[in-house]
Order: sequence, then C-alpha cells, then structure tokens
Amino acid sequence: MPTSTLKIGCHLSIADGYLAAAKTAVSIGANTFQVFSRNPRGGSARAVDAGDIAQFLRYAGEHGLLPVLAHAPYTLNAASSTEATREFAESCMSGDLKTLRLLCGAANYTFHPGSHTGTGMEEGIGHLVGLLNRILVQPSEELGVRSEEREINWVSGIQNLEREKKDSTRSVPSAVPYSSLLTPHSTLPNHEPRILLETMSGKGSEIGADFSQLRQIIDGVTHNEDLGVCMDTCHVFAAGYDIAGDLDDVLEQFDREVGLSRLKAVHLNDSMMPFGSRKDRHAKIGEGLIGADALVRFVNHPALRHLPFYLETPNELDGYAAEIAFFRDNFSA
Ligand SMILES: [Zn+2]
Ligand SMILES: [Zn+2]
Repeated sequence: MPTSTLKIGCHLSIADGYLAAAKTAVSIGANTFQVFSRNPRGGSARAVDAGDIAQFLRYAGEHGLLPVLAHAPYTLNAASSTEATREFAESCMSGDLKTLRLLCGAANYTFHPGSHTGTGMEEGIGHLVGLLNRILVQPSEELGVRSEEREINWVSGIQNLEREKKDSTRSVPSAVPYSSLLTPHSTLPNHEPRILLETMSGKGSEIGADFSQLRQIIDGVTHNEDLGVCMDTCHVFAAGYDIAGDLDDVLEQFDREVGLSRLKAVHLNDSMMPFGSRKDRHAKIGEGLIGADALVRFVNHPALRHLPFYLETPNELDGYAAEIAFFRDNFSA
C-alpha cells in the first residue's frame, strides 16, 4: 500500500493528561505518541478524567494523532515463577485494558512478555498464555459488534463523553460507556485496545527475543485474532536479528514465524549494545550500533512504512523533535 505520510512520535508523559501530551506531540512534529498506561514502576493507575479524554479524542482526531500506544509498566512479569508476581501483572493489565477502553479503539497496548525466572521457556510461556486467555475473551463477540459494521460517529461519541464529565473522576467504567465513539483508524477492529507483544533483547530469562517464542504465545491464545506485535529495533538487533545488515532476511523470518500482518507498531531506537549482545540499552538515532542509515531504510521498507513508529531514545523534547524531523526528511514519498 502506498504511504506518503510517516506516522512517527515518541514516548511522552501523561502527568498533565492526554490532551496536554497530544499538544506536546504536535509541538514537536509528531503525529502519534506513546504513554505509560500507569506508573512505569508498576504502581497505581491514575484516575481517569473523562473530560480530558473527550478533549483529547477531539484534538487527536483533528490532528491525525491516532492510534496512540500505551506501554504497560516494565516491571510486570506475567511469566514469573512466583504466583503473586503473575497475579499482580494480571490485575494491572486487566485494569489498564478497562481504562484504555475509554479511548475507544484509539490505543494499542504493548507489554513485555516477561521472564520465566528460572523455570524454563515452556513454563514461562504457559503462564503468559494462561493470562492472555483470561483477558482476551473475544471482545468483538462480547460487545456484539465490529467497527466495520458500525458507523464512525465522532460527534455523538464526544457529546456522550462530555455529558459524562460530571462523574469524571471514576477510575474505570463498569461497562463500555462510549461505544458510539470509534477511531477513524480503519485497521482497529473494535474499541478494545489491541494487545501487542513486544520483541525483547533476551537478557536473563526474558521471553520474546526469538520470533518462534512469539509464535508459541500466539498459538496458545484461543482468541488470538487481534493479538499483535510491537517490534523494537534495539531489542531485535541485540537479540541477534541483523536489521542493519540484512533487513529483508529478518522480515522474511518474522513473516514466516509470526506473520507481518501481526506487526502493528515499531519502537524506533538505536542500540548502545552490540549485535547479538542480548542487552537492552537504547541509544539516540545515529549514536548507536544500528546506525541512522539502517534505521532510515527500516522506516522506508515497503513492509513497514505504513506502521506507527515510536522513539524511545534517551532524549528531551528538542532531541525528539530533531529525530522526528530527521526521519520525515528521509522518508521517501
Ligand atoms: Zn518496551
Ligand atoms: Zn528497551
């Protein structure tokens, strides 16, 4: 599919709400962005302000910022050998997913598959699959309708949200309250956030550094139709996939093992650590071992160029603005 506009943004804070983050994104030339679904150390979720979300959705729709990406806390480990750790991951993730329904399909949700902490890949993947089977209960059937059968009605959806402003500080809706508000992003099947498994570098007993492990997870999930993948360029490089030297070969492997149609987002990072090091240290674009040229080829690749790209490089806003401008300047029409 021909794509002439690069969808690119960076990780931003939602300390001041979604609308403020969206305005920051626009101010640095981004047309999407990533946020943490809650405190990145795994703490409590902030109360959801429905008024802020309504204003955000209106603003983001007008500025073409959707979908955005929500990142689960790094510290969650749904594959842990410790039951309490798994239960904590499950309660955080299901809470996040409920909250993200307020964004009505305008958000994807990426998370780290976790680490087996010594019990072996099979058992770790088994725990993770169990969790995904409990939270992925075929939302489209549960909610009775798919978006392509539905008319996108921003105006009435936003009006509903604004009517709800009065009880705006409740944390999580008991049902999906704003079902008429749907994202204009045509690839999202319904207003559930789409869950994405992140590709990992493979440090310690980490799951998800090998594409075949992602396949195993997907195959274990009964309702896996909407289960996607977020590829992190730094992580795959550190895991031993040579995106700098032979991107076509890596994408062929990914397509064979996972399926390119499952790839829904990219974390666009350079790597401080060498190829195959299985260490996860992000570098600024062009200051790492992948290099700016290889990352430019990555965003321009015909199989990837339509995807949303999220920078997680060690930058302040001006650094992000410069990297976004760099990729826009080097995106072929
Ligand atoms: Zn991540
Ligand atoms: Zn990383």
